[in-house]
Formats: sequence, C-alpha cells, structure tokens
Amino acid sequence: MPNHIAFARDREGRLVDVHSVPRGLACGCVCPECGGRIVANQGHVNSWYFSHASGSECAGGAETALHLAAKQLILRQRRVALPPFVIQFRREHPSFGLYERSRDVTLPEKIWQLVQARDESRIGTGPYIADIGGRLGDVSDVVVEVKVRHEVEHEKAHYLRANRLPCIEIDLLPLVGKQLTLEELAWHVLDCDTNRTWVNHNEYTSIKAEMLAEYEAWVACRTRDAAEAARPRTAPPPPQPSKTDLANARYRELPNEMKRLELRTVLGLKPAATWPRHLQVPVREGAGAIPAPLDIWQGAVFVQFIYDPIGDGPARRPFSLPQVFQWARSRFGVSEEVKYDAGTALRLFLGYLTSCGFLERDRGGYGSDTYTVLHGALQPPARREPKPPPRTTYPLSVPRTTGARRTSAAPARRGWTWREKWPPEDVALVRASEASTRYEGATFDARRFIDALYRMTSEPSPSAIETLLTHCDGNPRRTFELLKDIGVVEESWRTLRDGIDPPWRRA
Ligand SMILES: [Zn+2]
Repeated sequence: MPNHIAFARDREGRLVDVHSVPRGLACGCVCPECGGRIVANQGHVNSWYFSHASGSECAGGAETALHLAAKQLILRQRRVALPPFVIQFRREHPSFGLYERSRDVTLPEKIWQLVQARDESRIGTGPYIADIGGRLGDVSDVVVEVKVRHEVEHEKAHYLRANRLPCIEIDLLPLVGKQLTLEELAWHVLDCDTNRTWVNHNEYTSIKAEMLAEYEAWVACRTRDAAEAARPRTAPPPPQPSKTDLANARYRELPNEMKRLELRTVLGLKPAATWPRHLQVPVREGAGAIPAPLDIWQGAVFVQFIYDPIGDGPARRPFSLPQVFQWARSRFGVSEEVKYDAGTALRLFLGYLTSCGFLERDRGGYGSDTYTVLHGALQPPARREPKPPPRTTYPLSVPRTTGARRTSAAPARRGWTWREKWPPEDVALVRASEASTRYEGATFDARRFIDALYRMTSEPSPSAIETLLTHCDGNPRRTFELLKDIGVVEESWRTLRDGIDPPWRRA
C-alpha cells in the first residue's frame, strides 16, 4: 500500500480527514506538501483514504500531513498529556561492575493546559524554532515538539536545558502511513502518555546530581568492603540479575498450556469451565505486539491488577496504564520496537474491563489513565437491565422516562454528548449502512434511521431517542454504538471533528 496522506488541506486551509469531506475531487483539498489536488476515496467496500489526483504520491506528503495535523490539534485544543518522568542512571565501574538505577518522579501535573500556543515559535532569543511554543497559566513558557521525521537535535535540547525551558517530544513516527481520523489522531497527540518523552524537565539536573551522589556513596561503600575483604579473598562477584527478572525469564519459558493451567488455578476455574470472555477480548489494535496468546496476557494482567476475590488485597490500590505496561513488558518480554502498540492493546483491554464494571477510570485530568478496581471477582458485576451485554457506557440522554428505570448503572452514563458538528448526511448514510452489516440480527434500515436522525428539529429529547431506539430493536447499547460510528455522538473528552451543524442548529 503506498504512503497515502491521512490529512489534506481543505479550502479554508485546515487539515481534515477523509471522513469529514465530500467524496472524490469535490472534497476540494490539496496535499499540504506538494500542493497537488487530492481525491477523497470513500468506497462502500474498500477503506477510505486520500490520494493524489495525479495518481502518484509525493515524497514526504504523509509525514508533512501528519505533522501539520498534529500541530493543528494542539493549537486548537491547547493541551497535551505529559509523559511519566523517569530518570535513568547508569555507570560501569571498572572494579564493581554495572550500577543502574532509575527514579520515577511523581509530577504535580499530568497535563499542560496552555493559555497560549504559537505555531513554529522562536525559542527565547536563540536560533531555534519550536513546533509549538506554549505558555502555561503561571506564565511560564514550555515547548512541545512533534516528531515525525526529525527528533530534537542535541544542540537544541542543550539550549532548552540551559534556558530552563521544559520541553516534551511526541513521537508520531509509528503513525506514518496509517489512515487515521482526526479524532483518532487527537488521542495520540493530546491524551496518550506513552508515546512521548521529556526533552527537558527543570528538575532533571538536580535529580541527576542526587543520583550521582548516591552512586558515589555506593562506590565508597564498595571500596571499603573490598578493602576489608582484600586479604582473604578476590574480587566481588559479578552483579546478578534480579529475582524478578529470573522469575519472568523462567515464566516465559513455560509452555502456554502450563501458563493457562496456572491462571485457571489462581482464578479457581474448574477444569470443565470455559475461559471467561472478558479475558480474551479481541482488541482492535496492538495485540500482536505482546508475545503471548490473548487469553494468557489478559488473564495475567487481570490476576496481577484486578482479581481480588476476598476484597482486601493490594489490587484495591489505584494503578496506572504505565504501571500495567511496565509489568506486562517485563513479564512477557515486549520488544522495544512495538512497545507503543503493546501499550495500545493494554489500554483497549483495560477500557473493556472498565465498561464491564470491573474498573473505574479516573478522569482527574485529560489522559490520566488511572484505574481503580470496583469489582475484584472473576465474573463481571451483574447488570440490572435485562439484556445489554457488558460493553459500553450510555449517553447522558439515554431514556430515563420513568424513575423506576434508573438503576445503579448511572455512573456509567456520564461523558456522552452530541457532537457540535455532524458528518454530511450522505456520509452518515454510508456509515450507517456499513455499520448495519456488523449488527447481525437487527432489522435495521439505514435510510430510515438517518432520515429520523437528520430531520430532528430540536436537540434529541428522551422521546426522540426512543424513536431512534425502535430502529435498533430497542437496544440502547447498539443505538449509541451506531450513533458513535456515524459520528454524531462522542465521549465528551474527545476532540470535535469538523463537519456540518446538526439540524436543530441550522438557520
Ligand atoms: Zn503531495
């Protein structure tokens, strides 16, 4: 597959994705790299993508489009999640061998909320240009770099450090050539915290100095020990791998059947019992990056972080996605090249468990993936509603016509909103038709559904929602999955995609 560009420039000069424009040349877009005309390919069968009208893709178009779209998102939303701040310290001592420590510094904030964001902004009075120069509420300046082709050079990093300008770098290289929507890209750019690193943090120098002092104390201590032991014996033994490393290495050697047996024993599953469905969730992305079968890595993560049948175990502590990632990484030996995909798979899996009611995701700040265990048993908590499978959250305006139907599932309903912009009706119709093939068994007519949706003269009321529900066999989950696929509702923390005004807002 050629390197198609994922974002093109529309007539207003904005970067847009293929889902938010009319089909074909009518999209009116150009390539942000070469300025060539762009065609929006929106097939009923094939995936949707932009391509050059000339038929040949220009070099660098995909990278430029991704870079510009990422910057546009930051400039508009003016927030970015911050990466964990971990400092590595490594020295090879000529007699005492390897000394390696890392310090995980707890940051007071997990996100930069910018009161000002400038594109391609000069850094201080120096020779360097920042992708985004930002200003925080306390009027300190910060720098956000988006890496697609070029990472921050050494000299620039040095300049930032010398001028005490905090800087993070977001690595989007793995996304080049992928057909993403702007909304999907927004998660990677604004909310994900595993694809970025600190180029400069102002605490860095002082913590590094502390770690150096610790190292020197360690050398002094070893030197004294060596002097004491000098007479009777020879050099100290070489450093040993830690117990945990050894245990993990041994674990990886085990045949899968043994691992399964072990998990079943821990979980108290009888030999004849089937493996729970929520522990082999076919995650959309990244599962291949974890070198273990789906049921094994998901079962192991569940046991490590969630399973707590008695209710007084350590699993009750909140945990973060980076913690799960670090654990799974050393447990299963995720390779460095695919760590990003592995993180995605874990996030999707935890998201599924959250929707089942095992976990609650802490939304203290944007992108802060912290989870609290709500339910530590093997099987998901029971729902009071008769049928809906344990899947997803409900919109704020899910029918609550009678008080009696309000159940304890209420907390799960937060966070859904109607989008401010909807896709054009023909696009919505195509999406509804495609979606209907996935909802097997539904007596669903995409045309009638879109008609009902796009003819509403006011913001959908509970009774209007009931009308939409009847098109989907009365199944609220299915209805809102469908509305989400069409692109008219969203989880509210996500960014808005460009489109048209919903019917009730048009003059
Ligand atoms: Zn081009």
